[in-house]
Amino acid sequence: MQAPQFLHNLLTSSLPAIHAKRHAKIADARLDHLHKLTRQIVNENQVICAESLAVKNMVKNRSLAKAISDVGWGELVRQFDYKAAWAGRQLVQIDRGYPSSKRCHGCGFAVESLPLNVRIWDCPDCGTQGIDRDVNAARNILQAGTALLAGAES
Ligand SMILES: [Zn+2]
Repeated sequence: MQAPQFLHNLLTSSLPAIHAKRHAKIADARLDHLHKLTRQIVNENQVICAESLAVKNMVKNRSLAKAISDVGWGELVRQFDYKAAWAGRQLVQIDRGYPSSKRCHGCGFAVESLPLNVRIWDCPDCGTQGIDRDVNAARNILQAGTALLAGAES
């Protein structure tokens, strides 16, 4: 049995609206998740160090651009900023020019280039193997942030 024609028309005509509503729901859920995450991180940490990403340069990479727009880096840093201020915590932003990814956290040696598809690398200077790109960058950002903070307080 075929669906009556009027039902078909009703369904198809309302699809764009349903689609838009679903997208709004996903955006709300993402924002809600981000709020929970930033609140938890602010609650659990006295100092938060974050890199102010050069989004303009990174959007050249399509998959990375998608990830940034999904997570909303600017929104993430904005939330850290005001929540840290409320809670009496400190947010330290690291300049995007700081080579957090390319610098070996172990010895400080900076490789000339580290293409975005390289997730694990070996340091040619100290010989450390299996350096996780993101973990290494996070350690460098934390170190740079705490150094900045120490400089500001002395
Ligand atoms: Zn090294």
